[in-house]
Amino acid sequence: MTFHLSYPFLVCAMLFYSLPIKSQELVNDTSAVANDVFIHTADQTAKKAVAKIMQYTGLTPHFEVIENKDIKSAIAYIKNNKQYIAYNPEFILKLKDLTQTNWAAVSVLAHEIGHHLNGHTLQKKISLTDELEADRFSGYILYLMGATLSQTKAALTAVSHEVDTIRHPKPEIRLQAIANGWFEAENIIRKKAFTDSSLIHPDNTTQFTFIIRFKGYNQLYYIDENNRVIWFDNYGKPTILGKIEQSDNDNYKYILEINNIIYGVDKNLQIWNTNNRELIFIIGQLEKI
Ligand SMILES: [Zn+2]
Repeated sequence: MTFHLSYPFLVCAMLFYSLPIKSQELVNDTSAVANDVFIHTADQTAKKAVAKIMQYTGLTPHFEVIENKDIKSAIAYIKNNKQYIAYNPEFILKLKDLTQTNWAAVSVLAHEIGHHLNGHTLQKKISLTDELEADRFSGYILYLMGATLSQTKAALTAVSHEVDTIRHPKPEIRLQAIANGWFEAENIIRKKAFTDSSLIHPDNTTQFTFIIRFKGYNQLYYIDENNRVIWFDNYGKPTILGKIEQSDNDNYKYILEINNIIYGVDKNLQIWNTNNRELIFIIGQLEKI
């Protein structure tokens, strides 16, 4: 009897896993096989969620997803050079009960994957900033997977006290990080990468005329044809930080303003620190592009 029951299940399972996976299948799966056979176990939910999340990153999953009843929620760690994601099965099922959706479990696991992919699990300690990076990643991925913003925030709203590290930022700060990731993904999908008023719109891109290099400082600034000082942040987003204009002062050809600090630029395009009258020195150089 057992054989007759388990054999079709095995076939169905093989068919199920060999089918191309469509967007939102994880939560909107209409397959009777998936709903009846698989969806109620934490093991299946966790493994499937991790595999699905990784599909949206474009990376190959190398994580071992294991249950561990001794932990409170879920945790990412490395042991013997292998990346693990461990979860408490009761926690995963409780999330589903509380939120009436799988999205909460997905977001918790996405958070843990975020720790791995951001390199946090290579460190001795996970910082508060690391937690926000993992939250941001979970928000980003859940948008791509089709979750609404409230679905994306559901896990943290339901169980904000059950987290993977002892120290963690306040729930409202974490929710903001999740939302930041969610909106970032939305902007990318809708091709609105530069909608902020302080950013350059891609349709209105200007030519750069100079590179600004400061001595002993690795960041570059650019001057565009509209005399704006542009800096690219860590996400490559152009941000206007100041301006350059012709100088009335005989000593300088231009006056350069960056982050409300004024510099003088001489005819050789050397940048002078003019903020201390007793100590005026060359601090950088403009280079024509
Ligand atoms: Zn964490």
